[in-house]
Amino acid sequence: LANTIIFATMLLTILGSSGALPAYGRYPTCQVLDVGADMFLIDCGEGAQIQMQQYKIRSNRINHVFISHLHGDHYFGLIGWLNSQSLFKRTKPLHIYAPAKLLAIINLQLEYTLSFIIEFHALQEGQAYTLFENEKYQVFCFPVEHSVPTHGFRFTVKRPNNIINKAAITQYEIPIYYLQKLTMGNDYIKQDGTIIPNHVLTFPKKPDLVYCYTADTLYTESILPYISHCNLLYHEATYTEEHSQLATDRQHSTAKQAATIAKLGMVQQLLIGHYSSKYKNTQQHLAEALTVFEQTTCVHEGYTIEIK
Ligand SMILES: [Zn+2]
Ligand SMILES: [Zn+2]
Repeated sequence: LANTIIFATMLLTILGSSGALPAYGRYPTCQVLDVGADMFLIDCGEGAQIQMQQYKIRSNRINHVFISHLHGDHYFGLIGWLNSQSLFKRTKPLHIYAPAKLLAIINLQLEYTLSFIIEFHALQEGQAYTLFENEKYQVFCFPVEHSVPTHGFRFTVKRPNNIINKAAITQYEIPIYYLQKLTMGNDYIKQDGTIIPNHVLTFPKKPDLVYCYTADTLYTESILPYISHCNLLYHEATYTEEHSQLATDRQHSTAKQAATIAKLGMVQQLLIGHYSSKYKNTQQHLAEALTVFEQTTCVHEGYTIEIK
């Protein structure tokens, strides 16, 4: 029975929590999401590969890279990391999901050096759609509001199928060969024609695990349909309320606005980051967010969280 139960988890590591400028030991935006059989790189600011070493990320496990937009603080670390992958003689293809113009930049900088193939997938401007899906994961992108075309991403780890109820299996004498079908939702039909319904023989599957990443965005409720009820939301919080006009002018959010989105979206937990270099520390961000949404954490370099 052991192999009918598959454990699904997500482990998120923050490698950069800073906004446009690195400051006070903070690096530009970069995150790694370990989903078990695969690892996703979410934005890749300057210094990303140094941070991967620092936090012992086995980055050769990364097969999918998601770049939200082409502001330097979200992709200037990518070229260096790609080059290193090549020096490590990577042969596995790498999928990159990014604004179309990134491909020309990569080709120009790495024309002679890559040891592996890049499968480039241009993000369709302004569109919300599924980027890829298999039996284990789904990645979905959605537009946010920023000064250049920008997408947020929603990562779903699918939970295993129905879980076998061992006591019921024994009671109804279900043959071992049939257990796989039970996990897939089939009823069992005995030789005399009696139907044992699936729900008698299994426990229902648990809900899927969902992490949403907003990238850089102005406060916008247009993202609510995409992020609602997720287990974990990362929302940028570049500014505090004192600088809310700057947030509007530069198409970013305040910590309080991030918390408002989390509350309206009824998410379980909120992470905030992308702090402006104005701020030496993030105590004020946290205090302001907490007035709206209690389950808020200010992320910093090396912060990890597991969702299961
Ligand atoms: Zn940014
Ligand atoms: Zn930006």
